[in-house]
Amino acid sequence: MSMKTHPAARVVDLEQAPMPAAPGMDRKARKAQSARAQKVRRLKQLIGGTAFLALLAAGWLYPLMGYFIPVCMVLGIGLAIFRGRSWCDWLCPRGSFEDALLARISPHRPIPQVFRAAPLRVGVLAFLMTVLTIQIIRLWPDPWAIGGFFILLLSITTVVGVALGLIFHQRTWCYICPIATMSNWVGKNQRPLLMTVERCTGCNLCARACPMQLSPVALKEQSSMAHRGDCLKCSLCVGNCPTAALTFQENHPDTQAA
Ligand code: SF4
Ligand code: SF4
Repeated sequence: MSMKTHPAARVVDLEQAPMPAAPGMDRKARKAQSARAQKVRRLKQLIGGTAFLALLAAGWLYPLMGYFIPVCMVLGIGLAIFRGRSWCDWLCPRGSFEDALLARISPHRPIPQVFRAAPLRVGVLAFLMTVLTIQIIRLWPDPWAIGGFFILLLSITTVVGVALGLIFHQRTWCYICPIATMSNWVGKNQRPLLMTVERCTGCNLCARACPMQLSPVALKEQSSMAHRGDCLKCSLCVGNCPTAALTFQENHPDTQAA
């Protein structure tokens, strides 16, 4: 299937390729479309983020609500197999909370590299999964107690996420979240971001728009973006690029023709 082409190969191809046909709308129209899309995303995230806080509070009264956590895990990782980390954009309630609410009080400092590196991510994943497994075995077969433990775990990790957001950046937690780490593994090569290098002016607006502090502009020089498995497929870089240099693989003219 054409969508399976490795991102590195695609970008090398693009460097040799003729300039694709100009986008179907002018810059003003694209800007307006991007503004509309961002408004919708903000609204969805505000609803998702508020629902997350309500759910967390309700979970302390009704522990069975804690089962939405394994549901989120299955949905997030399942979606990642086909769409990369799309779940983490605005479908994840905690991710929505971070972008819609925590971002308002976060200092937006650079996320330290240690959070992006495998040792810490695998360590956090292994630790949380071990604790979870031990507790489920210990509390089995009491569904209320197990649900309550899910809520406790969600509360603790949310406090950690908020602290990281207040120290560094609202999405810092999204590098060490277990769903993120597993989604990165299974969805790394899905929906890669491609650049038409002839169009890129190096303005860096794409990197400035990225909620994960990734650098799509690096595709101008490199065959693939560092930490591409952590791209949320949010399209903010695509929409903010003034020259329409960025697209996802499925929207690229060469891919459509293939
Ligand atoms: S916003 Fe577009 S033109 Fe500017 S650096 Fe990024 S890809 Fe290049
Ligand atoms: S690289 Fe682009 S699509 Fe991916 S998370 Fe950053 S802004 Fe969103």
